[in-house]
Amino acid sequence: TEACLAAVEGAGALNAFVHQTPDLALEMARAADHRIKAGDGAAMTGIPVGIKDLFCTRGVPTQAASGILEGFRPEYESAVTQNLWDAGAVMLGKLNMDEFAMGSSNETSVYGNAVNPWRVGETALTPGGSSGGSAAAVAADLCLGATGTDTGGSIRQPAAFTGIVGLKPTYGRVSRWGTIAFASSLDQAGPMTRTVRDAAIMLGAMASADDRDSTCTDLPVPDYEAALTGDIRGKKIGIPREYRMDGMGAEIEALWQKGADMLRDAGAEIVEISLPHTRYALPAYYVIAPAEASSNLARYDGVRYGHRARLGAGDGIVQMYEKTRAEGFGPEVQRRVMIGTYVLSAGFYDAYYNRARKVRALIKRDFDQAYAAGVDAILTPATPSAAFGLGEMAGKDPVEMYLNDVFTVTVNLAGLPGISVPVGLNADGLPLGLQLIGRPFAEAELLNHASVLE
Ligand code: GLN
Repeated sequence: TEACLAAVEGAGALNAFVHQTPDLALEMARAADHRIKAGDGAAMTGIPVGIKDLFCTRGVPTQAASGILEGFRPEYESAVTQNLWDAGAVMLGKLNMDEFAMGSSNETSVYGNAVNPWRVGETALTPGGSSGGSAAAVAADLCLGATGTDTGGSIRQPAAFTGIVGLKPTYGRVSRWGTIAFASSLDQAGPMTRTVRDAAIMLGAMASADDRDSTCTDLPVPDYEAALTGDIRGKKIGIPREYRMDGMGAEIEALWQKGADMLRDAGAEIVEISLPHTRYALPAYYVIAPAEASSNLARYDGVRYGHRARLGAGDGIVQMYEKTRAEGFGPEVQRRVMIGTYVLSAGFYDAYYNRARKVRALIKRDFDQAYAAGVDAILTPATPSAAFGLGEMAGKDPVEMYLNDVFTVTVNLAGLPGISVPVGLNADGLPLGLQLIGRPFAEAELLNHASVLE
């Protein structure tokens, strides 16, 4: 813990931590020492971790990297973080992210962006988003693991951009209680770590049944670490032909082939499969996620949490709402609220939101059919490219940024587990990641498949 605190201190330029809790960390570390001496150690006793700013932590500032939650200190602890502390983990502080987890570059944060520890010459790169601070912190060895959340790729894309492992569990595997909501039918928390083994251990600590989240499963939490045998002989790995997008970079193509070869060499059978509705995933996601966000973010009204605008003479409650939300939310969040409100409005509900829901069902059915035909896991690229430069997307059509999520959003729409594993470097020396997608609640098997790619 002391070594990590010193590392965090020396890595201010990465802007990964937005709030540090050194006193609490040392206190938790001392408690961990006692626990170990008493022979009462748990899976993560004494392991220093960082927490994405989206998880409520009792008494510790929690802002979802938004101005609207300025000064908010929750009176309760999220299920995920409580589970981590019960397993003995030590909290170093809160990690940078895109505002309300909306973004793919960490550039929508009220704290300014985190920086990728990898770089090419003088060019500073994005760590990805929205869990960019988590990715930067783990990649730079500031902590041994970090929590992330993934609504449309926010664990897997930053993991790929920084050369670490990121796992989005099956929807319902991890409790969402106390995690600030973005799009409730898609949000899922998961571990971001250096290795697949660490991800297995950390997922085991994060997951639990929880009556406070009605979508959380009560299936028992398996011993994920014990499942890492490396034996995948006879398993069937699907390569979806629709993911071979036009204009896909040669380096991504080569990486994908390399991953397939590694799995084949370990005894798996590689088969081509079809997921025909893939090309509708991105538009469906960017209707459904903003729709749910506009509803979830309605609670930030200047009354119950955080920031409230200074009012002028004659301002009533409506002006208070308007001024507070105009000041507190950044441009990307405002864009999502407007899109979401529009697609849910009476005249457009059927044309957009309802249609997107139907498309979502078709996307899920594509995966169901592949698994029913005997496929054990699906291999795809995690991202269309390596990390891009900070500021590179500024002033461009926001849709350009959304295109980054093309390989990851399908998994959230279908509620499946997906893992991003670093599989090599490109010609510039930047990390690239591959994604494995598993059957529902088959995280143990998925992690085992992923261990072969390390
Ligand atoms: N980049 C996606 C978005 O901006 C994903 C976000 C996420 O997974 N939290 O919506």
